[in-house]
Amino acid sequence: MEKANFAAPLGCEPAKLPFTYLGVPVGANMNLTKHCRPVIERFRSRLSLWKSKTLSLGGRLTLSKAVLGSLPTFYFSLFVAPASVIKTLEKLRRNFLWGGAEESRKINWVKWQKVLSPKNAGGLGLGSLKALNLALILKWWWRLKVDGTSLWCRALAELDINTDDVFVKDVGSDEDTVFWQDRWNGAATLKDSFPELYKLERHKKCKVSDQITTDGLVWNWKSSPTSPDERSQLEAIIARAEVHHPLSRRDKWICNLSHDGTFQVRSLRSQIDERNESSDEAVIDWIHDIPIKVSCFMWRAVLDRLPTATTLIRRGIQLPSPTCTWCGLEPEDTDHVILRCPKAMMVWEWIIRWCEIPDLHFTHTKDLVEFTSKWGTCHKKRRTLIAICYGTAWLLWKARCDWIFKKTRSSPAVVADMIKSTVFTWVKHRRTKCTFRWMNWCVNPFKCV
Ligand SMILES: [Zn+2]
Repeated sequence: MEKANFAAPLGCEPAKLPFTYLGVPVGANMNLTKHCRPVIERFRSRLSLWKSKTLSLGGRLTLSKAVLGSLPTFYFSLFVAPASVIKTLEKLRRNFLWGGAEESRKINWVKWQKVLSPKNAGGLGLGSLKALNLALILKWWWRLKVDGTSLWCRALAELDINTDDVFVKDVGSDEDTVFWQDRWNGAATLKDSFPELYKLERHKKCKVSDQITTDGLVWNWKSSPTSPDERSQLEAIIARAEVHHPLSRRDKWICNLSHDGTFQVRSLRSQIDERNESSDEAVIDWIHDIPIKVSCFMWRAVLDRLPTATTLIRRGIQLPSPTCTWCGLEPEDTDHVILRCPKAMMVWEWIIRWCEIPDLHFTHTKDLVEFTSKWGTCHKKRRTLIAICYGTAWLLWKARCDWIFKKTRSSPAVVADMIKSTVFTWVKHRRTKCTFRWMNWCVNPFKCV
């Protein structure tokens, strides 16, 4: 009754904890999985709406990144999500990414940790939710350190939370670093490194600027250090303090996890993911000239994770025969479809004549990718070749699928023409200030300016 009397003049209604404010539960114990259910439910509802079956892997990747990755941001910047919640959300993302129409059995073709890791480490750069959560939470600490004057920062400062390994103070001329108790010089506080001397200190909260002055070191001992232990600690502390030269610049916080010491959720997140996955090299060249679905296809091809007859049988799926239905000669694997199948080889012969690059003969997709990424000296021409080769691989795969599933019989000449026009359209429309002309492109793609 009393509560209602207070609430009425404010135009509010009395309520009990926990309640929901701006979509976030307030006053609930977020360590309990049941309180994270709204996030999971929102995740799931988005997934069912999207009809992942109508999208290519590239499209699903873009959506996973844009929406699934940021949907829980609001929650994730406020709560450390329980491990089981992260696991459930990752599972939803995983099923969504691998749940397209062409993946009839929903096989997870590539290890999820690999998919999450940054592109330059061989992944798809999706970014793990765990790393996102951690990075977003740490952002608050970062704000706390660099902008410690606001009320919430002062309130939080009262809590004893250890972020010493992540944020390090680079002490300049400011007067707010505590000489003994802050971590500013070396891995541990001076209090922990020199306990005997700390006992003798009269002003335990003295600042660095009180202690290190332009005239040298200033001490305020209760009694002078005399025992051998105290003397040797004094020598050591002088050596350590002398390394520090008070500079004209201000104190600065450095974030240990990023390359340049500043704090960015995005870079921190991929750093965390990189640490989790043993660092590899990028699998392919992620160029902007071609659609993301083609890049994703190539990424799978290099990792040998395409649903060919051989890989499907290896994964326990019953097929009448592992033989390539296109040529009927050899077992069908990724390299066969893209490079070694006689049908594919005829298309490649045509590409070689068109591009005038006689070295373009490979038996492994990986070698093709490596060759194109190092080819020539002109960056733009190299990108054109990458677009042509990735496009060729993708259209060969498409021709193979049309052959099997739609019974479309396209001759190598037709496939080659398709490559020529498709890659031209990609590059023409996706590259900024592209001056390519169709007539010249048809003669030679590197002389078409
Ligand atoms: Zn074949």
